[in-house]
Amino acid sequence: KTTRTPFMAGNWKMNLNHLEAIAHVQKLAFALADKDYEAVEVAVLPPFTDLRSVQTLVDGDKLKIKYGAQDLCAHDSGAYTGEISGAMLAKLKCSYVTVGHSERRQYHGESDESCNAKVKAAFRHGLVPILCIGEALDVRKAGQQVPFTLNQLDAALKDLPAEQAESLVIAYEPVWAIGTGEVATPEDAQEVCGAIRGRLAELYSQDVADQIRIQYGGSVKSGNVAAIMSQPDVDGALVGGASLDAEEFVKIVRFRD
Ligand code: PEP
Repeated sequence: KTTRTPFMAGNWKMNLNHLEAIAHVQKLAFALADKDYEAVEVAVLPPFTDLRSVQTLVDGDKLKIKYGAQDLCAHDSGAYTGEISGAMLAKLKCSYVTVGHSERRQYHGESDESCNAKVKAAFRHGLVPILCIGEALDVRKAGQQVPFTLNQLDAALKDLPAEQAESLVIAYEPVWAIGTGEVATPEDAQEVCGAIRGRLAELYSQDVADQIRIQYGGSVKSGNVAAIMSQPDVDGALVGGASLDAEEFVKIVRFRD
């Protein structure tokens, strides 16, 4: 764990227009403009329409804040009306892109197969996918959270070479904890994150598994982040609602303070 840089990412979902994005990132930059936060990697994941504004700001101020998108098309170009390609995101100097967020799986028909294609598309364009996996409430009630989540992992990583897998980020996001205020206990988060790392070791090697950062996501706030981060296989957080409040997100980034 000590060799993995903690990684806090803010998923803005469909919030903040491009002007609000500028104000928000400026606040983050100001609050994080000291040495301490360099020990923690920080990224924002705004809507597509904000990316150019965020890029300009980050370029101009040489900020250490990274950014990425919330989705990408599995195809590189062509007749896919309404879609955004990995090439376009790479041109905007995105570092990351989330793949398979539960809201996309739930409302936009994202399947394990499309996640696999999108993970590969991200790597084709030099973007690091933040692969989101996690069980719904009925699965947890049945005690099947580990096998369910590992199945999603296997499917999304099918035929992905180790050289790519080692730079992946995985976000374990139990669906029942997203946007509900009901955070998983640190032990619940560790159970599944530990199992994910175990499966990554089986699929690739212990060495590759030890390099991959695994985030927890689901109602993370400044008040609960430290306990979750204390778990051996939790390397960061994917933060939704709380990332829209700059002060709160900064406190999450500074979870060690
Ligand atoms: C998310 O959108 O990935 C998320 C974890 O949301 P929230 O923090 O609001 O639960």
